[in-house]
Amino acid sequence: MIDSAAPAPAPAPAGVPTTDAPPVPSAPPFPHRDLLTIQGLPAREISVLLDLADSYVAQNRKRDKKTSLLRGHTLINLFFENSTRTRTSFELAAKRLGADVINMTVQASSIAKGETLIDTAMTLNAMHPDVLVVRHPESGAVKLLANKVNCAVINAGDGQHEHPTQALLDALTIRRRKGNLDGLTVTICGDVAHSRVARSNIYLLNTMGARVRVVAPPTLLPPAVERLGVTVFHKMTDGIGDADIVMMLRLQSERMAGCYIPSVREYFRFFGLTYEALRAAKPDALIMHPGPINRGVEIDSEVADDIKRSLILDQVELGVAVRMACLDLLTRARRAG
Ligand code: ASP
Repeated sequence: MIDSAAPAPAPAPAGVPTTDAPPVPSAPPFPHRDLLTIQGLPAREISVLLDLADSYVAQNRKRDKKTSLLRGHTLINLFFENSTRTRTSFELAAKRLGADVINMTVQASSIAKGETLIDTAMTLNAMHPDVLVVRHPESGAVKLLANKVNCAVINAGDGQHEHPTQALLDALTIRRRKGNLDGLTVTICGDVAHSRVARSNIYLLNTMGARVRVVAPPTLLPPAVERLGVTVFHKMTDGIGDADIVMMLRLQSERMAGCYIPSVREYFRFFGLTYEALRAAKPDALIMHPGPINRGVEIDSEVADDIKRSLILDQVELGVAVRMACLDLLTRARRAG
């Protein structure tokens, strides 16, 4: 209710700073404790993250790559699934920012002795880590764990649900080569049904204004995939026709119960990326793959190694910068407090 008896304060003349008014705190650029999904992140926050990551790319190319931004902070990598790129990338990112890093794998943890995920989370939480980076084979498990701890949690891949830092590093890779994501045609090919990389990329690319297509046999597409905002194709040359980016996916056999393709040979013939198939894309189309690649299964070896077209190693390089940006942004509130 407005008190009509109180005279309204006279507005300060334009350009004259008021002395007694409390300063309006500026909104944090990335107002989240955790990074669990890309779904729901606005374009503005994605851009903040990518812009900051860009500055870390430059730092990572210097001889002295280390800063003390996160000195005194501890990051725990808690991986319940295998990983080469993501785990190493987070470790390097944290160390380049000066943090201490502990790596835990399920084989070496008390989970192997029957401890529950929640008990493990609460045990680790009691040791006051600042960031937990978690990969788990079950969709939703990382969020469950995040609800039980009071440090920042980053989802490094949960089942077939999401892999947010992969989509962010893919976006940075595209943006640095094509200038922008808006208006590009990006075709994602292969095992979309079991791919957390595909899901996070579809959310991010749609948010940033790209046109997203998927190409796969019907058995490797999730039900109602169009509702995610993609156009569906079942023939490679149709799906990658005039594409700017062709993003290949591995067959996620560890998530398959049953038989989804007649044979690997047939799969490669119809859905593998070869130079012949690539002719349908734009002449300057670029190729991406989150890795690990299976040569001769989803991608021809020569195409994967083509340094003029393939961004696969750029993705790995930029992954470290993106993870540094995530760690920087997610720890800002703690560092200020
Ligand atoms: N490395 C990615 C992931 O963890 C892609 C893959 O494994 O195929 O989802």
